[in-house]
Amino acid sequence: MPKDPVCSKEIDVAAARTTTGTTRFGAAEVDPRAGTRSFFNGQWYYFCGLECRTKFLATPQTYLKQAGS
Ligand SMILES: [Zn+2]
Repeated sequence: MPKDPVCSKEIDVAAARTTTGTTRFGAAEVDPRAGTRSFFNGQWYYFCGLECRTKFLATPQTYLKQAGS
């Protein structure tokens, strides 16, 4: 199970990918309250919510160092 790089919480990928609907452009809509993800540096990162994702995207290097990879 992937971990939120910001708060280290384990993320339920299935929940994070649950779609709430489809936009009129055909893109899948997800409910950010159930978790969200972002494609960064060649891989997907999962977050418990928009707050953590925003923090990560502001200073990704800070969180990537902590992950030790
Ligand atoms: Zn989090």
